[in-house]
Amino acid sequence: MALRVVVLGAGFGGLELTTLLSEAFGTGIDIVLIDKSESFVFGFSKLDVMFGRKPPRAVLHAYGTIVKPGVRFIQTTVRAIDPAAKRVETEAGTFHADVLVVSLGADLDPASTPGLVEGGHEFYSVSGAFALRDVLPQFEGGSAVVGVTGKSFKCPPAPSETALLLHDYLTARRRRGSADITLVMPFGTPIPPSPDTSQAILGAFAERGIRFVKDNLVTSVDAEKRRVTLSDGSDLPCDLLLGIPVHRVPHVVVESGLAAQPFDWVPVNKQTLETKFPGVYAVGDVNGVGTPKAGVFAEGAARVVAASIVAQHLGGASPEAYEGAGSCYVEFGHDQVGRVDVDFLSGPKPTGVFHAPSTALVAEKGQFGASRLQRWFGR
Ligand SMILES: Cc1cc2nc3c(=O)[nH]c(=O)nc-3n(C[C@H](O)[C@H](O)[C@H](O)COP(=O)(O)OP(=O)(O)OC[C@H]3O[C@@H](n4cnc5c(N)ncnc54)[C@H](O)[C@@H]3O)c2cc1C
Repeated sequence: MALRVVVLGAGFGGLELTTLLSEAFGTGIDIVLIDKSESFVFGFSKLDVMFGRKPPRAVLHAYGTIVKPGVRFIQTTVRAIDPAAKRVETEAGTFHADVLVVSLGADLDPASTPGLVEGGHEFYSVSGAFALRDVLPQFEGGSAVVGVTGKSFKCPPAPSETALLLHDYLTARRRRGSADITLVMPFGTPIPPSPDTSQAILGAFAERGIRFVKDNLVTSVDAEKRRVTLSDGSDLPCDLLLGIPVHRVPHVVVESGLAAQPFDWVPVNKQTLETKFPGVYAVGDVNGVGTPKAGVFAEGAARVVAASIVAQHLGGASPEAYEGAGSCYVEFGHDQVGRVDVDFLSGPKPTGVFHAPSTALVAEKGQFGASRLQRWFGR
């Protein structure tokens, strides 16, 4: 009987893993790829849509178009996971696996920040980012705050990118003179592992008059008074809040016993990404391996897990240990993109090498997205 692999979540991690296994095993594998959504959306495309750079339909990539040997995509919601039995309950029935991969990402919980849902906006979900496309044109001026509400969040450069793109957006609408922009982040610098990248971002903020509030979170929103409260007890005027919601381990993963509680990301073997249950792996944002929550790290983790499954079932060398390294593109505004090459696990402390913003990196980022669509969706 063909090896049965069930992959929960078709994001960066699940799509890369499925592609690698299909390439290696061909029709000699039975992969069930499960996701509750109909389409994949790159995280960075959310910024493109909210700032009107692309229409929503241009960034939705339908899972139904995936045709790969040995792969079945099933659109359904995972309701329960039994990691000991490698059994998954979904709205479309029960699935049994020989190898189970949990790549369900991070859940977003805007409701846990008082007033955020009623008095602010978030742009981390697809629906939130798409809705902002209609909200931003109504902002005529006042205080705009890009605010992080929880300590652990996806794509650490994204809040800084949002502040810089908001500057361009308001400048193009001739509203920048009547608006101020503040970024609230829980770190001392925008990208702590890379002082050069942080310096460049802080320089760009200074040039554009964007205020950076470090070591803080937005803890509540008062829509009536038009103010937000920060974790140090101070408050700020706020007519427009672009919030980064609290991130949590998906409820179904906590219930399964794979994670101890909502802020304890799934513990894994740092070299293999295997959980405490043999043959059950946690890939991407859902794990607590110690890398930032970003697509490039989810992809790197998928490569290690795929190589391990191939070595165990087709033979060959065991994979190299997970490196926790990857390149993140950073939108600097003014139609320029920078890049930071970060390495979280191979040395004694995380490092990041900065590549200055350029139009060449705009093209490289475009190629990064296009190459994933080609690999994962065959287009
Ligand atoms: C604004 C923004 C910009 C970003 N920019 C970048 C960037 O430039 N570069 C980069 O590398 N990363 C970026 N990211 C981060 C990146 O999107 C994530 O880190 C990445 O998608 C994580 O991959 P993953 O496979 O772990 O999880 P996800 O890609 O989040 O995939 C998880 C999947 O699981 C599904 N799912 C969840 N629960 C269930 C359930 N119960 N049943 C069924 N399906 C379920 C979801 O629908 C989802 O498709 C950005 C994120 C944001 C929000």
